[in-house]
Amino acid sequence: MRKNSYTEALLRGKCPRCREGHIFMYPISRISKFNIMNEICPHCGVRLEPEPGFFQGAMYVGYAFTVAVLVILGIAIYVAGDPSEWVYIGTIIAVMVFLVPFNYRYSRIFYLLLFGGIKYNPQLSQTK
Ligand SMILES: [Zn+2]
Repeated sequence: MRKNSYTEALLRGKCPRCREGHIFMYPISRISKFNIMNEICPHCGVRLEPEPGFFQGAMYVGYAFTVAVLVILGIAIYVAGDPSEWVYIGTIIAVMVFLVPFNYRYSRIFYLLLFGGIKYNPQLSQTK
């Protein structure tokens, strides 16, 4: 993966303008603080919430992600032997609860990079 590529910024949750600063304050492994975002990029200073309420749109990305996981899991459980409906319900709920931090963060990162309207500036990505 090329350094400072769009894909790297997406996967690692980097600022859309400099692709150096982190969008979220803490790593996803700090489960009590996984949702705290930086208000401005710690590297270049761009506002990471372009307008008030911007991240309400990330809800639709999160919904699409949830439906995709639900369908894939449902098909996988069916192929594995079609057990009772409680196995479907229990497995899907357990996996979705486990994926809450991942879903929350990546829906916001994806939405910000795709619809945030912040253009990449390669000059800002050099280390200061
Ligand atoms: Zn930045």
